[in-house]
Amino acid sequence: NLPEVYESSYIKRFKVIINPNSGRGLSRRIWAQVADLFEVCEVSISYTERRNHATEIVTELVLTDYDGLIVVSGDGLVHEVINAICKRDDGDLARMFPVSVIPAGSANALAQVICDKSGEKVTPENCALIAIKGRSSPFDISLVKFASGSIVYSFLSIFWAFIADVDIGSENCRCCGACRFDLYGFWRVLALRRYSGTITWDEGEYTGNIVYFNACNTPYIGEGMHNAPNAQINDGMNDLLLLGDVGRMALVRVLLRQDAGTHLSSPDLKYIKTKKWTLDPGQRPGILSIDGELFNSEPIEVECLQNYATVFLL
Ligand code: ADP
Ligand code: MG
Repeated sequence: NLPEVYESSYIKRFKVIINPNSGRGLSRRIWAQVADLFEVCEVSISYTERRNHATEIVTELVLTDYDGLIVVSGDGLVHEVINAICKRDDGDLARMFPVSVIPAGSANALAQVICDKSGEKVTPENCALIAIKGRSSPFDISLVKFASGSIVYSFLSIFWAFIADVDIGSENCRCCGACRFDLYGFWRVLALRRYSGTITWDEGEYTGNIVYFNACNTPYIGEGMHNAPNAQINDGMNDLLLLGDVGRMALVRVLLRQDAGTHLSSPDLKYIKTKKWTLDPGQRPGILSIDGELFNSEPIEVECLQNYATVFLL
């Protein structure tokens, strides 16, 4: 029972970028696992040799030579590639160029989002087949403006306080795969940091202590992590989750239920849908994690740009 893609006479052309350093370093093997599926396509492969190498590749890519871009990596390389696309001189055209991912990283949120929307299980094979089928969909991107003047595009999430500390602090435990978040998270609950900042959105403001703040562009923040169940990939909105000055148990209750997406009923949790919002991280700003990458924490203004990029989706 061949997928309909094999019945099409049109040969699709893909640029494939592989990060050999993703996750537990298995991307080459994961690509080998799905390479046969691309027999019906033309594929040009590049391996990243360093951070920002994919930015160079995407910036120079002749888009008309390809029907889409696939990264074999985690969400970090997706972040790099999306930023390179949004910052291209031919941005309006580039933003219609479909991208996708074959999951090989520690979190793999985009793979989870794409497979979930397509009604498939998250596997490298399913991600490959979805791309090969060639249907695409617009995807919101959040524009992050830093007080210092720089600009970053975010396809996934902006974390501050607890999850940022876990996401970035656990980088040294990459060899553990996704487990690194649980192990390091447990430690961070014990050594809980309280931040103090101001968050504003369309209709409100919060000033005071904060232990947990996530802004999500998609329902999942990682594979099997259903952090923002009400989020949509093209609703033009960010979903904000906020825990103010709560104790460890209130935080743990949210953490234990956020993978299943059943944490929204927690009485302490604020869940806000908004197109624009700001964060002023105060005097002890900590760090920001944008799509899992580390950024200096300083005041930011964020706007969700509806349908700003394109992903392969059934
Ligand atoms: P993970 O999910 O494990 O974080 P990613 O594929 O998302 O894996 O990659 C994380 C980061 O690694 C990205 O920010 C990317 O820029 C960087 N990177 C890409 N290629 C290399 C390389 N060859 N060596 C080191 N870092 C790299
Ligand atoms: Mg959204």
